[in-house]
Amino acid sequence: MTNPATIAHLVLPEWLVPVQPHGQVLRDHGVAITQAGTIGEIAPRQALLAQYPNVPRTELPKQILTPGLINLHTHAAMSLLRGAADDLPLHQWLNTRIWPLEGKLVSADFVYDGSLLAGAEMLLNGVTCFNDMYFYPEQTARAAIQLGMRAQVGIAVVEFPTSYGTGPAEYLRKGLQARDSLRGEALVGFTLAPHAPYTIGNQTFQDIASLSQELGMQINCHIHETLTEINDSIKEHGIRPIARLASLGVIGPELIAIHCVHLNQAEIDLLAKYGVSIAHCPHSNLKLASGIAPIPSILSSGITLGIGTDGSASNNRLDLLSEARTASLLAKGSSGDAQLMSAAQTLRHMTLDAAKALGLHDQIGSIELGKSADLVSFDLSGFQTQPVFDPISQLVFACTGSQAHSVWIKGQLVVLNRQLVATGAQQALSEVTARLGLWHNRAGEIESAVA
Ligand SMILES: [Zn+2]
Repeated sequence: MTNPATIAHLVLPEWLVPVQPHGQVLRDHGVAITQAGTIGEIAPRQALLAQYPNVPRTELPKQILTPGLINLHTHAAMSLLRGAADDLPLHQWLNTRIWPLEGKLVSADFVYDGSLLAGAEMLLNGVTCFNDMYFYPEQTARAAIQLGMRAQVGIAVVEFPTSYGTGPAEYLRKGLQARDSLRGEALVGFTLAPHAPYTIGNQTFQDIASLSQELGMQINCHIHETLTEINDSIKEHGIRPIARLASLGVIGPELIAIHCVHLNQAEIDLLAKYGVSIAHCPHSNLKLASGIAPIPSILSSGITLGIGTDGSASNNRLDLLSEARTASLLAKGSSGDAQLMSAAQTLRHMTLDAAKALGLHDQIGSIELGKSADLVSFDLSGFQTQPVFDPISQLVFACTGSQAHSVWIKGQLVVLNRQLVATGAQQALSEVTARLGLWHNRAGEIESAVA
């Protein structure tokens, strides 16, 4: 039994879904959060009320409480480019619109403002942790800290110069400096984020693989997103990108392979054998017409699968629940197997499996004793989500992120009744929102200069 003096708060939903054990739904149970922000107890509500009569509590009638959702792939700062480039395939989208805009616009202020907007949007959609890739990672970290949000920020690397630096050595040096300076921030971690096989040379991949081993850092990389990427690799290197990455030492359990739209069975077997995780981003893949990832084969191989929204310029929403619903429907529809990616399994991909991909599953991803109290409640009281036959089904197949009601991260309340409540968060959001016109004007000036 937990010492009553260490319990700081009780959260009392109608349905509690811990994710571990898989598929379990606890009715009229609650969570006792410790002063350290961990889960101190999971018990029937009457038992908690009897044991901790004087502890402050949050009652959540007709709400489902789950672990905080984890967005396994984002470029948060790109919320400032939402809608700036639609209806284009990936390489045209990057070369003719996104990179020219980013080349002129991206700065520390751009990344902070864009990341704060994205973080607020994700939090209000029930996401407690996002796995990002962008330049100025310390600014993305700053925005997450401001919101009280958990973030794994990727040190983005490309082979060419940008407004952030001259090349790989400078991107890595600046990113690792930021990692050192933010080492004391409990909610922020850093990963290595080589952009993609077509923007990274062999030596840089080898350097990043060595750094990953030396520093114990995860690697995020867009891999096999389009057929063009694969065909270009065969032309340039004589082999497909995954074979090239394997020869350079990048394929291993620390790798989160983003997209993986085009994989043959041998590649799926290789990724499974080496413990690679995959970040599945179906909306971005559909919108850029990249294709549909072979999720049924990926799942049957046992690969750890998480779900990501990708950036706002290719989605254009940061609603992980909607993303996961599409993932489940695509898996069913493309396989002819309606049992694939059930509601409970889909929820696990958004929580515990994503935590495993990040190497954080001992801390987050499920509601279990001793883990961090990263929790979200979704309101099922509206007529659109009543009556409730199966609360997990209602969450995954009927809800959208806007039904997220309250959010705790490391035991701290950061969203209550659909409002940001961490100290200074709403104020920061108002300040950034006031600058939106400025960013829009600057982007417009760049576009008219290009045209
Ligand atoms: Zn991406």
